[in-house]
Amino acid sequence: MHDMLTWLESRETEMLDLAQNWADMNTFSANHAGLDAFSQELIRAFTVFSLPVEMIPLPPYQYCDTNGELRQGMAAPALSLSQRPGAEHQILLVGHMDTVHPAQGAFQKCVRLDNGMIQGPGITDMKGGLVVMLFVLQALERCPWKDRIGWRVIINADEEIGSLSSGGLLTAAAAGCHLGLVFEPSLPNGDFVSARKASGNFTLVVRGKAAHAGRNPQEGRSAIDAAAAWITEVKTFFRDHDELTINMGQISGGTARNVVADLAVIRFNVRFHQREVQTYFEEQLPLINHRIAGEHRVKVELHGEFQAPAKPLTDDVRKLFGFLKEAGVAVGLDLNWHASGGVCDGNRLAAGGLPTIDTFGVQGGNIHSTEEYVVPESFVQRAKLGLTFIHMWYQAREKQSE
Ligand SMILES: [Zn+2]
Repeated sequence: MHDMLTWLESRETEMLDLAQNWADMNTFSANHAGLDAFSQELIRAFTVFSLPVEMIPLPPYQYCDTNGELRQGMAAPALSLSQRPGAEHQILLVGHMDTVHPAQGAFQKCVRLDNGMIQGPGITDMKGGLVVMLFVLQALERCPWKDRIGWRVIINADEEIGSLSSGGLLTAAAAGCHLGLVFEPSLPNGDFVSARKASGNFTLVVRGKAAHAGRNPQEGRSAIDAAAAWITEVKTFFRDHDELTINMGQISGGTARNVVADLAVIRFNVRFHQREVQTYFEEQLPLINHRIAGEHRVKVELHGEFQAPAKPLTDDVRKLFGFLKEAGVAVGLDLNWHASGGVCDGNRLAAGGLPTIDTFGVQGGNIHSTEEYVVPESFVQRAKLGLTFIHMWYQAREKQSE
């Protein structure tokens, strides 16, 4: 083990250069040309394993446009490779190549900051994590105990838009594996995320009837008035469920000040930890929709779904955090973890029944902003931690099967 950790330490410059080159390539979720180019770059990097890399086309996803009409969107294909699929212990390693940073705009290239950090689009979330994954696997392949471990890598291109197309692939892949590792960044202080909330994205489309605001307003039925009443009612109704957060993220509608609005579109997000909360929400929301539709004589349609179920801290996951703590001590890190309201592909793997730790990527902060930065030392630290963790997990499983 010691030799492998030393080998990882000797790769630091290579890791940092690779992460910066990757972050300099724009891979905004809607930038399919950029995602194609980056996929080729990833395939090149993964040739070190001499394994075939598969590009998996994904089903289209549905979304609601600004006119309240349902449309289909296409996600770029996911990349997949596997090593020793017949081995006793199977690990699924997951990452995403897309970022939230648009191809237009000033934030495109990495810079070294005066405080030693590297700032760059997606360097932390999660090009840096992909680099850590690549080097953990290279180190693993140099270990004599690797033969009883098989692994599969899946890198999707639609995580930042909810993995709507790749979610099914991830959950299905989880079923055949024993350990899930997702290379999302750790929290800014290096801590891990344990439990995660469930999340659903919805669009409410309200259709009323247009009329002149001065001549015949009584003949119109305002979709905006109905939408406003709906928001108030929903917020009031679920107010006492502190478990449940409902965020009205975006609202649009109407055409002009002197026209009774015939359309309003509300985009909102719902999060919670407990499964029962979802059931309650799904029972009550249609009743509110129906009531508002009747009172305001408008049509109300609800689109969307709960994409990711909650990721609870199960006994199996607790056991993994035990190995993580030990692995941390072995490489000189004092690690802790907390629950989070955030959602990631770890939720998808948990939905497939796979015990998963989903913050194995690099340490950094201000992600999803133009101030995103990474802590350079964390590349080697996290790679050493990842390899040590896998070794401990493997030893415990071997012992168990004796
Ligand atoms: Zn991410």
